[in-house]
Amino acid sequence: MTSKKVARPPAATSEGLHVGESLLKPEEHVLATLEADGSRRWLFPRLAMGKFWMSRRTVAYLLIAFFTILPHLRYKGLPPVLLDIPTRRFTILGYTFLPTDTLLLALLMVSAFLSLFLVTALFGRVWCGWGCPQTVYTEYLFRPIDRLFQGTSGKGGIPRQPITGWRWWLRGFIYLAICSFLSHTFLAYFVGTDRLGRWVTQSPFEHPIPFLIMAVATILLTFDFIYFREQTCLIACPYGRFQSVMLDRRSLIVSYDERRGEPRGHGKPELKDDQPSKGDCVDCGMCVQVCPTGIDIRNGLQMECIHCAQCIDACDSVMTTLHMPTGLVRYSNQDSLAGKPSSVWRPRLIIYPIALLCTLSAFSYLFLTKKDFDAKLLRNLGNTFSVGANELIDNSLKLSLTNRTTEARHYELAILVPASGTVRPIESPEIQLSGGEHQFVPVLVSAAFEEFKDGRCPVKLKIKDDQGEERIVDYILLGPYQKP
Ligand code: SF4
Ligand code: SF4
Repeated sequence: MTSKKVARPPAATSEGLHVGESLLKPEEHVLATLEADGSRRWLFPRLAMGKFWMSRRTVAYLLIAFFTILPHLRYKGLPPVLLDIPTRRFTILGYTFLPTDTLLLALLMVSAFLSLFLVTALFGRVWCGWGCPQTVYTEYLFRPIDRLFQGTSGKGGIPRQPITGWRWWLRGFIYLAICSFLSHTFLAYFVGTDRLGRWVTQSPFEHPIPFLIMAVATILLTFDFIYFREQTCLIACPYGRFQSVMLDRRSLIVSYDERRGEPRGHGKPELKDDQPSKGDCVDCGMCVQVCPTGIDIRNGLQMECIHCAQCIDACDSVMTTLHMPTGLVRYSNQDSLAGKPSSVWRPRLIIYPIALLCTLSAFSYLFLTKKDFDAKLLRNLGNTFSVGANELIDNSLKLSLTNRTTEARHYELAILVPASGTVRPIESPEIQLSGGEHQFVPVLVSAAFEEFKDGRCPVKLKIKDDQGEERIVDYILLGPYQKP
């Protein structure tokens, strides 16, 4: 039930203000997508099909094709990228990273972050405008679908009609179908297309958890693309904020040339002879109308700007129509816009590449010197040592062995130091691991008391597989201080 408000004159206070009168009136648009009353301002950006839009479209369709096809490809019998979280194995281009590869993965991640810092310092938020799936799918898949249903008034124009009735349902169904396909493709990166294919053709009750994951992912994606849209970039994505703080005054940004454009005003260029103080911006508002985040680039660098370059295309088209030079809105940097000398070089462009070179070199060295198997000796629970036959000191250990290849391998053990020592598997004389398998193999390592000093005896074991690959493992045996 709503009650009708009765207008009353505001009561005066001692300061002369009236109760109910705002000290600060809200601005018309507090945020680009928020009205003064707090409701959402829906954006229907116009389309400016300029050179950047065309280039971004090519990049977008290549990225969509790449993302869709990649899980179906095979390299050395495996998908190029398989992030198998339950078994904690990440396969990238035929190489499988295991949980024991923490250092390699850490170096890879640090290198990825340093690359991001470097790219952002050079090219600003290029990822947001050109590569991010949120931008790519929204601008080049879902907005075209909307335009199909809404109609456009003129080429790339604003919507002609709202989507209602059966068209609303049909559009919703198309969104749902596409988002379902996207979530299946996404899941393929984690479970592989073979397993995914089996799940899809079987009853959901046989695989309830993957089915639930898929259903939730589909609903979330549909919600994101049909409703949340630019809000993801504006309020939800930490990556955008992260990139923004890494910009400096010489990073490439989409910017408005204030010195050339201001003071703005309506009117054609020929009128300017009478108005010499007038800038080149004709205040047509096209740069605002095309902006997918609803901002005005003429207000300077803003957090909401995803650097999509739509305002460049729009403004260039206006300038071309008016026979004026293009580039009033363009890719530039803050220093050159302010008329300051602007060299690309600055300390961060030396520090980031050096740091990146170090991490990549360390990664390459570790990666290239990796063997086909990992081996490590660990102490068993229970007695640290026992005195065995021939008065040898026995240490019962377990050999942590991982076959990193995709084929089965046999392994042999030998002791190098001390020469008189012995080593043998306890349970079975044969050590065999299938491709990718990990085992703890119980082994007995023995050495004469004379080899021990202060109850310790360093040993060197050699582990060799049937392909001739070998590893040397060092260990310290424990024994008695006095001859038993
Ligand atoms: S201001 Fe320009 S570059 Fe930034 S988001 Fe809007 S249209 Fe894209
Ligand atoms: S599109 Fe260009 S000319 Fe038109 S308002 Fe924007 S900056 Fe000014």
